[in-house]
Amino acid sequence: MPIKISKSLRSEILDAVDRENIEDLLRQKASGKCFLCDGKMNEATEDLEADHDLPSREGGDTTLENLNLVHKRCNRFKKNNPTVLVRNFLCINEFIDANHDATFADVLKNFYHVTTRPFVITDVTPNHFNIDLPNGTSIKKIPINTVSIPGKDKDIHFSYLQIPLNSIYNDDVQPRTVKIKHLFSLYQDLHFNPLHEPSSMRLEGELRVGENKFLMFDGQHKAISKALLEWKKVKDMGDVLIDAKIYLNLDRDEATKLVNSIQSKIIKLGLTKTEFAMKMTQEYRAAYEEYEQRCSEDGSLQSEYGFIESRPANERPRVKQALFQARRVDVYEDKKGEGPLRIRKYVKGSKDAPARIDLNLELKETTFYSKLLDKLLYKKPLQDELDRDDTKRATERLNIRMILEILVETVFEDISLDAPVKKRIKSQSGLVLWIEFMKRQIEFLLNEKFPENKDTLLLDYDLEQYREKLVSFSTRFAKHPVWNVEDVNQSVKVGAFYNDLQKNKNIEAHAKKVLLTMAYCAGMESLAGNELI
Ligand SMILES: [Zn+2]
Repeated sequence: MPIKISKSLRSEILDAVDRENIEDLLRQKASGKCFLCDGKMNEATEDLEADHDLPSREGGDTTLENLNLVHKRCNRFKKNNPTVLVRNFLCINEFIDANHDATFADVLKNFYHVTTRPFVITDVTPNHFNIDLPNGTSIKKIPINTVSIPGKDKDIHFSYLQIPLNSIYNDDVQPRTVKIKHLFSLYQDLHFNPLHEPSSMRLEGELRVGENKFLMFDGQHKAISKALLEWKKVKDMGDVLIDAKIYLNLDRDEATKLVNSIQSKIIKLGLTKTEFAMKMTQEYRAAYEEYEQRCSEDGSLQSEYGFIESRPANERPRVKQALFQARRVDVYEDKKGEGPLRIRKYVKGSKDAPARIDLNLELKETTFYSKLLDKLLYKKPLQDELDRDDTKRATERLNIRMILEILVETVFEDISLDAPVKKRIKSQSGLVLWIEFMKRQIEFLLNEKFPENKDTLLLDYDLEQYREKLVSFSTRFAKHPVWNVEDVNQSVKVGAFYNDLQKNKNIEAHAKKVLLTMAYCAGMESLAGNELI
């Protein structure tokens, strides 16, 4: 597979010699390694592309200096994320891709190149203990906390510590494989929110003077993600400190019990699919979790499609419906740190709606779904493996949220529009027309890049860079004079338009007669003044 340099990108390279030889020059510059993930690039089997180090929308030039050869998949992945956030992650993504059954210990050894060593307990009193760590530091007077367990004579002791990565062993209580989606959601979250609960460990031996080991039985993804934040910043990854809650007298069976109860009771943090399962109807929540668990045990890949197939045939239509419902909720519910989706304020009965909604703007819940959200969501279950599913659905979610924001911005909350105008556009068929126009405009904007993938554009492509164009498109739609007529029967053409709008039929044909067209909204056609006569 050759290196793919698009015509438009090539034409942007000003230096004629560079332009002519860009493939060779990039090849030399890369010396076989992807700029984003640092992994090997194989021209014979992989799609490779040129990527702007500093994106052009942030002022980056299309020059040899600013271009680098990357895997197509890494480039796709980067699109929705800042380079700094994504780069370290892509490297581990590559590693896990190549080592599907990697455990925490494998990541430590083969990715971070850390050799784990025991530590030494140097003193123990009833309330404190001292240790020497493998990184050469000592910690003195570590307080011991105690908790009693109802119905048991034995108290459990534990301490909080920051311990270096090179002192952490995998507990064989839970020899789980590392899951890339868990990693990514934690990794993203840790950038902004360092206040995660510590990972849980226990001592291998008893609390007494001598050599001992920290065995981690919960929170391995957190520990890997935490370390990833420091990757390439520190010389020796073994020195990276991990927050730990250390149980001092927990045996293997007790640890197993604890893990199982933690896992069954606590909603895992930031896991897209688990959050997703939570949003499924009660009926399928447990089934979904079971499916997820089974996949992680036998190492098979999860997908929406796979989940449906895992159910008995007579149930599948209902499962599909449940999946779709979960997707709907996922799109309109806020995630941490996001503003609320403003359109929900206008949906009658939504928890974001005020007690009294302006009647001119009120949307019925069914209208919100059937005329807006469902027209944008891709209905078929995705068949790709889980991580790609998630990336696609996350892209789709952001795109749909953006489109619905544009509707609010340019119609519901545009103060230059009169109330009757808004009311006409937000009628069922007004919305049908609006969404149809917006979808076709998006197809039009992306036609060059994705001519064959009309149905999945919102999944495949981040539309953020087209926001302004779409805002202006929607603004022209809303400001078209046909929405602002005083008398809907002022002429035959206008009468026909509104008659059809009410009956929700033929609407486009009559929209065309008053020149409410795609071309007009895109600014390629202008009004002559006699359209409404
Ligand atoms: Zn790469």
